[in-house]
Amino acid sequence: MTDSQTTVRVRFAPSPTGFPHVGNIRTALFNWLFARHCGGRFILRIEDTDTARRVEGAVEAIVDGLEWMGLDWDEGPIFQSDRLDLYRREAEALVRNGFAYYCFCSPERLEQVRQEQSLRHVPPRYDGHCRGLSKDEVASRLAAAEAGVIRFKTPTEGETVFQDLIRGQVSFSNSTLNDYVLMKSDGYPTYHLANVVDDHYMEITHIMRADEWISSTPLHAMLYQSFGWQPPVFAHLPMILGPDKSKLSKRHGATTIIEYREKGYLPEAVVNFLSLLGWSLDDKTELLSRADLVANFTLERVGKTAAVFDIPKLDWMNGMYIRALEPVEFARRALPFLERDLPATMPRPLDFEYVCQVTRLVQERTRLLSELGETCSFFFSEDLSYPASQLLVKGLDATAARALLERVISAVGEAPLWRVPQLEASIRPLGEEPGMSTKVVFGVVRVAITGRSAAPPLFETMEVLGPERCLRRLRAALALLASLPQEQAH
Ligand code: GLU
Repeated sequence: MTDSQTTVRVRFAPSPTGFPHVGNIRTALFNWLFARHCGGRFILRIEDTDTARRVEGAVEAIVDGLEWMGLDWDEGPIFQSDRLDLYRREAEALVRNGFAYYCFCSPERLEQVRQEQSLRHVPPRYDGHCRGLSKDEVASRLAAAEAGVIRFKTPTEGETVFQDLIRGQVSFSNSTLNDYVLMKSDGYPTYHLANVVDDHYMEITHIMRADEWISSTPLHAMLYQSFGWQPPVFAHLPMILGPDKSKLSKRHGATTIIEYREKGYLPEAVVNFLSLLGWSLDDKTELLSRADLVANFTLERVGKTAAVFDIPKLDWMNGMYIRALEPVEFARRALPFLERDLPATMPRPLDFEYVCQVTRLVQERTRLLSELGETCSFFFSEDLSYPASQLLVKGLDATAARALLERVISAVGEAPLWRVPQLEASIRPLGEEPGMSTKVVFGVVRVAITGRSAAPPLFETMEVLGPERCLRRLRAALALLASLPQEQAH
């Protein structure tokens, strides 16, 4: 299987029992990177045999998430529910060859067995009641359309041993295993049977999946052996933990991949971040482009130790990727977020030329695209709302603030051009006068123009907003100061 002549074939095999979260997508990404690194094939298989747990929209969310991440597949999506005959045929072959058997135990009987076992404090396990049914009895019960399942005849003694590329040799004592169900009475296979049959017929060379599946692997190894098939290479990926070292969960930010898109992460940042959850180039390089990852992704560099999911690191990375975008590309990515997040009262569609001018000023300090609706709103809204006291920068009193604003209004009114150098040349000198400082002057003008104390560079902002809007806002600030109670005004 590892022979270099064999084309690598890997798969991402999600069950549509929920929307894919970042942990699932890490699995998809590792398989995709490995396939692309080796010039192999990446297959998308939807394991939809658990009909009771199917979730509406989950398949679409899986496809959507993969597409957003740029994880293109070469075959699929293949749905297991389209292949039921194949699984039945293979399950029956196992019965014929003595590796599996029909079981007709009722749910009530199974429940009773479970309760007795629990009273005796022994682990729940099927008691083998139907193991010894004769061929004739099975045939007549099937002929009478009695509902039955097919179970694997797990050896009760000895050990099942398999090699895992990451974990090394893994062994399970057979006494801890069960006579697992392979075919359910509804005609659907269980995960175990369908998974093994498909991996065989799809000629999968490497199974890379989350660590939580390792407990299923002894059964899978026994199934390969019973079928007489060569198993693929198993590689169980290290666990992902939250920063508090407990199992990753929603409260650590392990939400669905689509939520990451909605929050304004760039797919290239998420790809980079997830690639480092269990893999590394050299234990120090953090920023790796998709091309770097494809060029360097080998299974030797997948670690054994659990990876820690650290959202602040992802946020930092996202900021780095945002800064690296061409300004027009940043504007293009920002546009849908502005359309979505700016207050509904602002007219749509937004003018892309104007959006480009605005986003150029905020690109450096943006970490998430979802911040933009808030950080850029004053570029789009007509009226600002802020308390008059915000204009009293550094203890300035209202009279001085009004005098200053009047001087600013006349100074910019005389500026020969509404451009950064001319605006700066008219406003900066006001801060150089006795008793004033540029901090105070810029601070007051900033609040008047933007309604906030922290905003992008002042003169660039004024240039983008244009003379009319700026003058209107400066005058509105004057009026606002007049509304302050007298004691504050003197
Ligand atoms: N259907 C399983 C899942 O939802 C697949 C596990 C495997 O890759 O074998 O993750």
